[in-house]
Amino acid sequence: MPYPLDAYLHLTQADARAQFERVLARTPTAPGGRQEAFLPIETLLCFGASFRVNGHGYGGANISKAPMPIPQLARLFRRSPGSIIRKMSNLDGSSPNGAKNDVLVALELTRDVTAYLAIYQQLLLAARAADITAQQLPDFLDLVPHDEPSDIGTFFEVDLVPDWQMEQAVQIELDDWHKKAPDIPTAETERLALAGQRIGQQRFAKDVLRNYQRTCAFCGLSADAIAHSRHLLIASHVKPWKDATGRERLDPTNGIAACPTHDAAFDQGLVTVADDLSIVRAPHLQAAVAADAQVAHNFGPAGMRDHLLVPSPASSPGGTYLRWHREHVWGSIPR
Ligand SMILES: [Zn+2]
Repeated sequence: MPYPLDAYLHLTQADARAQFERVLARTPTAPGGRQEAFLPIETLLCFGASFRVNGHGYGGANISKAPMPIPQLARLFRRSPGSIIRKMSNLDGSSPNGAKNDVLVALELTRDVTAYLAIYQQLLLAARAADITAQQLPDFLDLVPHDEPSDIGTFFEVDLVPDWQMEQAVQIELDDWHKKAPDIPTAETERLALAGQRIGQQRFAKDVLRNYQRTCAFCGLSADAIAHSRHLLIASHVKPWKDATGRERLDPTNGIAACPTHDAAFDQGLVTVADDLSIVRAPHLQAAVAADAQVAHNFGPAGMRDHLLVPSPASSPGGTYLRWHREHVWGSIPR
C-alpha cells in the first residue's frame, strides 16, 4: 500500500526520526530476497541524490563505482547500490518506467524544488537526532551548515539555459513518456521531463563549481571571498548546451567555472582556450585591450591569466570540447 503524498510533503520531524530508527533496525536483504518497501525518508533522499549523481551512468559492472551518496545510502538503508539507483531513476524525472506512485511523488517534489530542499534539511536534522552520523549520511547537497540557517538560494546560483531551449529538448523525450505512461496528462509529463533537465543542470553546475573550487578559471575571482554573495560564478558550457548531446550537457569536463564577464566573453568567442590551457584572445579583443584601459582592466594581462586556472588535472576541460569551442565558437566570429 503506497504512502499518501502528505507522508512525503508534510513529513514531521518525529515521523522522520522514527523512520530512520526503523531503517537502522533492519537486517540486510538476502540476495534474491524480497525487498522491504521504501519508506518516505528513503524515497526523499534518493530523489535528492539525483542532484548529485546521474544514476543512468551506473548499472551492472560499474555499480560499485557509483559515487557519494549512493554507497552511503545503500549501507544506511541496508539495500544494494543498484536498488538505490533504480529508485533514483524512477524519481529524477528522466524515466517513465517508474512505479506509478514514484512518478506521482516525483511530480510533486519537482513542482517546487525549493520546498524539497527545505524537506531535505529537515531530514538531515532528523537523522542526526536519531544518532546517524555525517559519515553514515553525509549532507550530500551541502545545504546544512552548522551554525546559521542555510541559504537555499545559493543552490540555484547557476542556471542560465534559457527556458525555450530546455523546452525544446524536452519535446524529444515526451514521445517516450506518452508510450510508457499514457495515463499521465501531457502537461504534467512535460513539467516532469523539464524538471529532469533542470535537476541535471543543477548537478552539472555543482560539479563544475566544485571542480574549480568556486573560482573563475579566467581571472581567479573566488566566490567564497565575498560572504553572502550569489551569482558571482557560472558553470559555463565549453561546447554550448544547445549544441551538446544529452550526455555532453551533463559532463563536468564540458564545464568551466567563470565570472559573468569572462563567461560572456567565452560564450561569444572573444576568448578561447588552447590544448595547453593557455587563454587566447580574439584579434579584435586584443586590439581593444591595447586601445582601452578599462577593457585591459578586464581582459588584459591584469584581468585575465595566461593559462586557465585548473585546480587539478582531473577537472581540466576535455580536449574535444575545447577543440569544438575553437572551431565553432571562436572560429565563427567576424575578424
Ligand atoms: Zn573572471
